[in-house]
Amino acid sequence: MSRISDHLGIQNRHLTIGGVDTVLLAHEYGTPLYVIDEDRVRRNFRTFKGAFPDADIYYAAKANWNLAILRILASEGAGADVFSDGELYAALIAGIPPDRILFNGNSKTLSELKMAIDAEVRVSIDSLQELYALSNLSLESGKTVEIAFRVNPDVSPDTHPKIATGLATSKFGIGYTDVLEAYNEAKELPGVRPVGIHCHIGSQITDVSPFNEAVEKMMDIVEQITRLSIDLKFVDLGGGLGIPYQKEMETPSPRDLAGAILPTFNERSKNLGISPKLILEPGRYIVGDSSILLTGVNTTKRSAKNFVGVDAGLNLLIRPAMYDAYHEVVVANKADLDRAETYDIVGPICESGDIIAKDRKLPLIEPGDTLAVLDVGAYGFSMSSQYNGRCRCAEVLICDGRVDLIRRREDYGDMIAKQAMPARLL
Ligand SMILES: *Cc1c(COP(=O)(O)O)cnc(C)c1O
Repeated sequence: MSRISDHLGIQNRHLTIGGVDTVLLAHEYGTPLYVIDEDRVRRNFRTFKGAFPDADIYYAAKANWNLAILRILASEGAGADVFSDGELYAALIAGIPPDRILFNGNSKTLSELKMAIDAEVRVSIDSLQELYALSNLSLESGKTVEIAFRVNPDVSPDTHPKIATGLATSKFGIGYTDVLEAYNEAKELPGVRPVGIHCHIGSQITDVSPFNEAVEKMMDIVEQITRLSIDLKFVDLGGGLGIPYQKEMETPSPRDLAGAILPTFNERSKNLGISPKLILEPGRYIVGDSSILLTGVNTTKRSAKNFVGVDAGLNLLIRPAMYDAYHEVVVANKADLDRAETYDIVGPICESGDIIAKDRKLPLIEPGDTLAVLDVGAYGFSMSSQYNGRCRCAEVLICDGRVDLIRRREDYGDMIAKQAMPARLL
């Protein structure tokens, strides 16, 4: 038995996850198949929490909101950052306590605001208009909602442009020069109570300096808010810590992140004589490396390139197409063979961009082989679709060598379930 990482190994030529043979998993459950290692999720959470013992960790549900994952994280004491009614619904039924949920979103519907009021969760407000709408709705309900404002701190993380969220031109949040006015407004409005401040500067950030810049700017605003006699209960600095998708990549640890944030946060809070709770919202770091996607080889073809056609495409993993993301690939049934060939691994979707991995050195691949795409736990299944009329695949959870099915494969009935045929076409 040799090891690739804590939870991935090789035994009898086969890739294992959490000690379970992936080739047997593919055989038993069919491919494509998402496989999640529970222990890895728990350990990632504990590592993150360990670096921020005094902070609350609100898991960013959009990374992967399978109920089992949310339930596992609830049992670890996580809160949740939710970005929609559906994520709020899932977080609540999975047992995340409402007083540890922050409802985010840059374009919330009135019914989403109503749902947040009824569930008694805090709301991160993205615009003045949203503030007024929430105030009106909560007055009607006779409740007062605790709010934060999502601040756009105008910092530029070195990440893919599609996941930089705190630039001045990003759609998210209220500009940091305008936000004080928003607190002033909120202070006077009924039905809302400003108790927090929130930012999230981007995702897959691999250098801690933008976090340091963000906390400095946020604490500048905190200082001004405190002068308005608003008592801040929390400062939420969002998520965004990157993970090493490529082995040679160096990414900061949660401890490094703590080193970039905590001294500023603690010292400036102390100087102001306040003690707000720090909140962080990691998504990718918690679940990213916990999961693999098993995909079966349908065809191989040698033309201008050496193509391997598999049964999972951008319908199940859109990150390569959307973000030019890199994911390591292992031939699960030939995991320790020499990587003597060079392949493009392509999905079955009718799009030229449906390429899972480009120019990869791998062992000779034949139809019937099973490939494992690594580090797909974040923004993998949660961004899946039925494009091209393909059913979403199953998900299994590994724990102590046991395998539990946590999502059944969709069937054709699921695919057309909500469609309706006009009577005149019958
Ligand atoms: C997406 C998101 C996160 C999580 O980002 P990661 O890069 O997965 O850590 C946290 N907070 C908010 C508001 C988000 O939109």
